[in-house]
Amino acid sequence: MNNLFDEAKKYIAGGVNSPVRAFKSIGIDPVFIESAKGKYLKTSDDKVLLDFCLSWGPMILGHANPVVINAVAEALEKGTSFGAPTQAETKLAKIICDAFDSIDKIRFVSSGTEAVMSAIRLARGFTDKDKILKFDGCYHGHSDSLLVAAGSGVAGIAQSTSSGVPFDIIKNTISIPFNDEKTFCETVEKNAKNIAAVIVEPVPGNMGLVLPEPGFLEMLRKITAENGIILIFDEVITGFRLTFGGAQHIFDVQPDMTILGKIIGGGFPVGAFGGTKEIMDRLAPDGNVYQAGTLSGNPIAMAAGTATLEHLSASRQIYSKMSGIVNGFSENWQSCSKKTINHIGSMFTIFHTDKPVTNFIEAQNQSTDDFRKFFIEKLERGIYLPPSMFETAFISTEHTIEDMVFLLPD
Ligand SMILES: *Cc1c(COP(=O)(O)O)cnc(C)c1O
Repeated sequence: MNNLFDEAKKYIAGGVNSPVRAFKSIGIDPVFIESAKGKYLKTSDDKVLLDFCLSWGPMILGHANPVVINAVAEALEKGTSFGAPTQAETKLAKIICDAFDSIDKIRFVSSGTEAVMSAIRLARGFTDKDKILKFDGCYHGHSDSLLVAAGSGVAGIAQSTSSGVPFDIIKNTISIPFNDEKTFCETVEKNAKNIAAVIVEPVPGNMGLVLPEPGFLEMLRKITAENGIILIFDEVITGFRLTFGGAQHIFDVQPDMTILGKIIGGGFPVGAFGGTKEIMDRLAPDGNVYQAGTLSGNPIAMAAGTATLEHLSASRQIYSKMSGIVNGFSENWQSCSKKTINHIGSMFTIFHTDKPVTNFIEAQNQSTDDFRKFFIEKLERGIYLPPSMFETAFISTEHTIEDMVFLLPD
């Protein structure tokens, strides 16, 4: 395995095309994947791993699901990209618009990052305001204005989490703790005239899985509406993961705009942003907010996404079944471990702390060492978990309650 990573490092920066894949926080070389089928990954050194990462969420139907593979094969025969409108785009767009009350119109892009970046521009163009408010520990892709952490010390002074981001850009981003109503209300009060949008993962999955406290999302909706601020739900993970629709249906809170990705591409690079007609009509060519993409709405990706969503739509008991498996596992976990587990639907995170985790500060309060040991021990036994302690694990429609037993402590 070593030689594969060494070889990769010669030609690819850090040996990977996305940093978390490098297993840096674990301190071993990453596994290379040769192929995958259903709930299993096969590594390049011929090991079989039970997959709880699922490409970070998209593979809700399991890997190489025939439903998706057949749709893709059919689309491939017709050509792979035209840079012109296709019926495939309208078809997937209609499925999504029908599934979300809050989405009248949508636009497809090629990643979640691109979708968020475009949505932010649109929100700024629509409101004619500059500032955006986000929450610590929520991830919205790697565009400049969103790589922002909580200001350390001096309140209101944001810091970038990456080098190479000018202060002039991030000075318009405010980041505050999740689940903290008081700070939110104070921040909006202070900046209301300048805030274009509040962006939030309604169920954050990027600080480990954290649940919104009762009333928190409703409160965001109320305060943003009162202040003419666009509320954006980043449902790149939760869209079509928790139900056929998004977390907004589970919690019954309607945002002005929604970001989608991951599942809607069925394993291909797709992102999307959608919202009310009034907002979306401000995009070029009808409006004056520019946004474009050579491969946006790619026909192969549309086919994979459509096949995935049609399958989910036709068999909605899938959601309660997956949820039942994770619920059962979580009860089991709690009866034999003191470590905190957060879960909803087919998502769960085992936190390496015995304290509750409701925000990023609490999520950071884990034992890195315990995480590392847990990850490696499971990997050695053929279990593949997300290789970072700030991630959510997933199950697919292929996983069973028996599979979950392998996750329990000894
Ligand atoms: C994965 C993710 C993104 C970024 O999507 P990419 O396709 O990786 O650019 C944005 N928001 C959330 C909530 C995500 O989980």
